[in-house]
Amino acid sequence: MAEYDVDLFVIGAGSGGVRASRVAAGHGARVMIAEEYRVGGTCVIRGCVPKKLLVYASRFSGEFEDAAGFGWTVSGAKFDWPTLIANKDKEIARLEAAYRANLARLSVEIAETRAIVEDAHTIRLLKSGARVRAETILLANGAHPVLPQIPGAEHAITSNEAFQLKELPRRIVIQGGGYIAVEFACLFHGLGADVTLVHRGDEILRGFDDDVRRHLRSEMVGRGLKVILGQTVASIEKKGHSLQATLTNGECHPADQVMSAIGRVPNTKNMGLEEVGVKSNAGGAVAVDEYSQSSVPSIYAIGDVTNRLALTPVAIREGHAFADTVFGNKPHKADHDNVPSAVFSEPEIGVVGLSEMKAREKGFALDIYREQFRPMKATLSGRATSMLMKLVVDRASERVLGVHIVGEAAAEMAQLAAIAVKMGAKKSDFDATVALHPTAAEELVTLHNKK
Ligand code: NDP
Repeated sequence: MAEYDVDLFVIGAGSGGVRASRVAAGHGARVMIAEEYRVGGTCVIRGCVPKKLLVYASRFSGEFEDAAGFGWTVSGAKFDWPTLIANKDKEIARLEAAYRANLARLSVEIAETRAIVEDAHTIRLLKSGARVRAETILLANGAHPVLPQIPGAEHAITSNEAFQLKELPRRIVIQGGGYIAVEFACLFHGLGADVTLVHRGDEILRGFDDDVRRHLRSEMVGRGLKVILGQTVASIEKKGHSLQATLTNGECHPADQVMSAIGRVPNTKNMGLEEVGVKSNAGGAVAVDEYSQSSVPSIYAIGDVTNRLALTPVAIREGHAFADTVFGNKPHKADHDNVPSAVFSEPEIGVVGLSEMKAREKGFALDIYREQFRPMKATLSGRATSMLMKLVVDRASERVLGVHIVGEAAAEMAQLAAIAVKMGAKKSDFDATVALHPTAAEELVTLHNKK
């Protein structure tokens, strides 16, 4: 009898776990993967993908408004939340089926249960109680949203529930100032809800470039969202059929829903990890080395459970590198430098590289190029909006260290700018590139005035 039932046991069938399973199986490994909820994980089932579908839906209202200046009369436009959610669910089900089919094609067995680690090579499947012996274990079991510890927290929803609401809230209070709070605030506003964003800090989106943070907030406020800074939700009370959020300054905000988006924590509890000796870092994530190996040599971890860069494509890279390294005899590490990211707010943010503040912290002497301009579409639509583009350039080497964009299609632009930044492009390379006219992106190659 073989010593192990499988070569690799993966816990969590999200983007990272599925990629690792497929690549390992492609290298000839016998793989089993456990999933307690739905195959596809956070990104596909209740994260990036459904969020982007809702973002698309939310942008029609702005398009309808803008259409008038172009000669259109849009009348009778009505929005139906149940239709959107049903269509979104259909698409998510299609994607889940595709994930399952891909795993099946490579003979990866799916165990639909919670799985916990019993020792360095043993997994217990909670549904059946069965034990599986694995030469290598991969933790790819993600993170979950936290609720604040305040009176009435049980009345709040998180992004998980926001995707399944029976009806669109007429009034929603959203707590937090990170990616999720900002994206949901914008999308609910676009769908017609009255949105109040409450953030404890003095500006939204900590970690982003300060110009980007200020610019987006002013655009959001200009579109009619209420943004309250320096406050947090202190309690939530049920009042008849609705809720009331009371802020730390005593202000009361009636709402149909209160959404908490104050961060996500790695799923490391009740997994048997401590008992087996898998060490966590200060933030409670699995501590791993550059090859995603934990303190127990046969146990690896990738994605949000390690809280390195909680982004889907990063988890996928980490899973791929792990599988190539351990099963493909092709050791390599996931590269966490110059990872582009976007906030699908309205207008959206696309960035790659260092913010001005981070670059200064790292000791760079900088040249800053920044332009704020009216996008062409706004001339006829009459919308009071402007786009922001900013390059953070190392004065000594002239390398572009950071590209920061706020405006329509910023995410698409950031993905392409990321190639240049990753290649070490200099400001002179940007300047040497002929503008593509008329676009907004051409501003990136025509930024001449240092600030
Ligand atoms: P973030 O860590 O981005 O933001 C959490 C926010 O909640 C911060 O504004 C933080 O404030 C605030 N906060 C934290 N604790 C408290 C508290 N106790 N009371 C009040 N406010 C609090 O978390 P998210 O949940 O928004 O997103 C989680 C991760 O998911 C992101 O970091 C990102 O990696 C990923 N993600 C990526 C997306 C994308 O790529 N488009 C979209 C959605 C998620 P402060 O700044 O003061 O700490």
